[in-house]
Amino acid sequence: MVHSGTTRYIGRFAPSPTGPLHYGSLVSAVASFLDAKHNQGLWLLRIEDLDPPRESEKAPSEIMRQLEAYSLEWDGEVLHQSTRLDDYREALSSIREHTFACTCTRKSTPTVYPGTCRDKAIQETKDQPVAIRLRVPDEVLEFEDLVCGTLSWSLEQEVGDFIIRRKDGLFAYQLAVVVDDIYQNITHIVRGRDLLDSTPRQLALYRTLGHDIPTYAHLPIVVDRHQVKLSKQAHARAIPTKDPLSILKIVLSQLGQQVPHADTVSDLLKAAIQNWDIHAVTGEPELPEPTGIHAAT
Ligand code: GLU
Ligand code: ZN
Repeated sequence: MVHSGTTRYIGRFAPSPTGPLHYGSLVSAVASFLDAKHNQGLWLLRIEDLDPPRESEKAPSEIMRQLEAYSLEWDGEVLHQSTRLDDYREALSSIREHTFACTCTRKSTPTVYPGTCRDKAIQETKDQPVAIRLRVPDEVLEFEDLVCGTLSWSLEQEVGDFIIRRKDGLFAYQLAVVVDDIYQNITHIVRGRDLLDSTPRQLALYRTLGHDIPTYAHLPIVVDRHQVKLSKQAHARAIPTKDPLSILKIVLSQLGQQVPHADTVSDLLKAAIQNWDIHAVTGEPELPEPTGIHAAT
């Protein structure tokens, strides 16, 4: 479902279905939901199922069941990226002149791609698969993040030409996320700071595709007691669905919000929507994973 430009705020939660939601992804879901609802906006759910080898078939339904257990009700139909491949293909071809084919291996490529294949005009053949990279301009990008403040990157020196279609033919997250955020008229992106590295790439894509950028808020990420980011790949545990009220109170307090007195999830969320203050979200880069939240499973 595509929303018309008349709604002033359209937010989204866009999990990759590599497993059920863990505490860190719940924090992103709650913050993006509250920010949208506080601003009388829509909150959309998009399943980013772009990379089948890394995904679990059960994950989308598990994620939805978890969101429902926490009364985080999304608006409209769920969008699955796996249904959007034609649009990614079209977007890619529309910016063809800003891209080039690359045969470098990941191993031989430093974090900032040095432009090795930029001017080689490599042809893709059956025996020589290529990645497609976006050529970034030599410019400094600056933007205002609602949580992190003013941020800036030098595209050529700190970011480099980046992959928008992989050698195995799959579209890269960077391209798909921007094409879909444009397609769904997303105005506000509230997500974890682990994605901040991706933001300048996405800003470069908005510009190349000729679209205005949304407003961003990058939240602190949740780390375990070894200071390691909770991630699905590292087998972070699924959030339990048994006692959402207590867990939501922990999330609110970690996000620097008032914790309302409430006996039901729906009363808690109602008050939390009213009280929500994005500027109270801590500027610290990390939140400790609360102890004991997994005990109730
Ligand atoms: N699908 C991405 C993830 O789960 C998040 C995309 C986004 O919020 O921009 O890490
Ligand atoms: Zn290359």
